[in-house]
Amino acid sequence: QLEQSVLRTNSLCKSFGAIRATQKVDLHVKKDTVHSIIGPNGAGKTTLFNLLAGVFPPTSGTVIFKDEDVSGNTVNERCALGVGRSFQVTSIFPELTVAENVRLACQAKTGLGRSLFKLASRSREVNDKADSILEFMGILHLRDEAAGTISYGSQRSLDVAIAIGTEPDLLLLDEPTSGMSPDDTVRMIELIHRLAERYTIVLIEHHMNVVMSISDTISVLHMGELIAEGTPEEIQNNDLVRKAYLGES
Ligand code: ATP
Repeated sequence: QLEQSVLRTNSLCKSFGAIRATQKVDLHVKKDTVHSIIGPNGAGKTTLFNLLAGVFPPTSGTVIFKDEDVSGNTVNERCALGVGRSFQVTSIFPELTVAENVRLACQAKTGLGRSLFKLASRSREVNDKADSILEFMGILHLRDEAAGTISYGSQRSLDVAIAIGTEPDLLLLDEPTSGMSPDDTVRMIELIHRLAERYTIVLIEHHMNVVMSISDTISVLHMGELIAEGTPEEIQNNDLVRKAYLGES
């Protein structure tokens, strides 16, 4: 029996001039799993992530999300279809409060009401929803603070909260622990574990201990190509992967 994939790519290629950033990448992200993408610097992880999110179109190949070809769709169009993405804090409006940031994300999905009554009832709904997301993310106590004034670690959590606000079927997390203090990193790892109970996740992460502890499946990129895929144990014992990493330094 075939396990259901939420996201598939077929022979996905992206070139920047003469540089082939990704080459013929076939990715299958199964429902309710954490699927990590790892690889040495310059392997093409960010490029692949951007191709999944719709930041730019592929040079060739396709991205299939829930059986729909979204290769030509923009970030916003994919978001409306259910692709949620963390943006490394760049999605935050610093002058708005923490809660307002999440409400905006919730509204982006809900759309504007046609009548004032609808708008009012929706706004209550949206407030409640935003608060429950903030609670889930452990930052409800910061709801009325200006987003620009909270700690970097909390901003990263807010960034993920914004992605969740759009009710994604797939959550793309781009190095959620990068630049974090050890304490914040531990909190974020715990959070990703809890997110994994609710969402299908594609994760790019440099910390190997995070990747190994959290992933169901790991895909390894090397010079734009997928060179291995498997469980954390399989990847740790894969000679090709070891070589790719050792050859790096
Ligand atoms: P890192 O771990 O260092 O972030 P990465 O695995 O995310 O690396 P990418 O950033 O996807 O790798 O880069 C893959 C290749 O594509 C690199 O050779 C990079 O220089 C090149 N590249 C990426 N983006 C562009 C761009 N906009 N224009 C030109 N070359 C690019």
